[in-house]
Amino acid sequence: MTILITGGAGFIGSHLTEYLLNRGHKIIVLDNFFTGSPDNLKHLKNNPNLKIIKHDIINMPSKEKLDFGKTKIDQIYNLACPASPIHYQHNPIKTVKASVLGLLNMLALAKLNDARILQASTSEVYGDPLEHPQRESYFGNVNCIGPRACYDEGKRCAETICFDYHRQHQVDIKVVRIFNTYGPAMAKNDGRVVSNFIIQALTGNALTIYGAGSQTRSFCYVDDLVEGIVKMMSTRNFIGPVNLGNPNELTIDWLAKKILALTGSRSKIVHQQLPVDDPIQRRPDISLAQMKLNWQPKTTIEAGLKKTIKYFKSQL
Ligand code: NAD
Ligand code: UDP
Repeated sequence: MTILITGGAGFIGSHLTEYLLNRGHKIIVLDNFFTGSPDNLKHLKNNPNLKIIKHDIINMPSKEKLDFGKTKIDQIYNLACPASPIHYQHNPIKTVKASVLGLLNMLALAKLNDARILQASTSEVYGDPLEHPQRESYFGNVNCIGPRACYDEGKRCAETICFDYHRQHQVDIKVVRIFNTYGPAMAKNDGRVVSNFIIQALTGNALTIYGAGSQTRSFCYVDDLVEGIVKMMSTRNFIGPVNLGNPNELTIDWLAKKILALTGSRSKIVHQQLPVDDPIQRRPDISLAQMKLNWQPKTTIEAGLKKTIKYFKSQL
């Protein structure tokens, strides 16, 4: 198949690109390199089945850009959007545009090519959840005027337009709600908790816990997530939304201590102010993914952190 991956030079996108190339597909990556980098794909750049294009999906890509020996695109994975709070809050208006205008362009392209399109949605659509664990039927608790809204509401609107394109134009959509994912290829300046703590531990700097550290997250290793995304893309008669994540819920304080132990670091822990609207708890209910996709994550937090620590050691 010819598969378009937007955001393919980013953290999850680069793993997905490699996974699909290894299965013999032709891949076109569209990325503006805002938070991703061609370096994430440099080990694949000689693969004749990979075409990397610098492009901002807020604009419709030209036919020439998308030409890869065959005009029809079979599948689109839409991952292009900054995902870390510091990055998506850097230019919030642009974040909304990436989620909404970018997706509108990709949906139009899917319609034109009669292609299947998968939207990378997020657990952030549940906001600061009042229902725990979060099931797909929960409508969420999002502050629509807060600093996280550009991302949360952008992604909520993205789900809306996927479903409207499906109802109005019969576009073949798939929606996955991704929960916190970590692993090699996260950017050093990403600002998310796993990469921050590992880099701080490896460089002897204090680990910065925001707030008391009693807030929870559930961390999924990237290889498990990619498998779930690809399974979702290949299912029939199920469009989602479906939660993809690891239900093993941890406090941020536990994570800091675990990373100190695994790195053997003598870094201190300091507490800083909790960001506005930071969700207190988050854990996916993955029953739907288990039932519909026969999917569940396999990697333990220890094994995943060890691989991620090894990666950052090689980068520093
Ligand atoms: P990332 O920031 O590493 O990757 C995003 C990629 O999109 C980058 O390569 C960036 O350069 C590119 N991009 C951003 N705006 C663009 C635009 N306008 N046009 C073209 N390219 C653009 O983040 P990630 O963690 O790999 O996330 C990938 C997707 O998964 C995002 O849509 C994100 O919202 C979603 N997601 C990720 C997580 C997670 O924990 N990693 C959780 C929930 C949802
Ligand atoms: N966090 C932290 N220290 C950091 C970065 C993040 O304590 O250096 C906290 C953050 O406040 C949040 C949790 O870790 O409660 C996860 O943050 P991240 O940005 O990784 O993901 P998200 O908030 O989007 O789930």
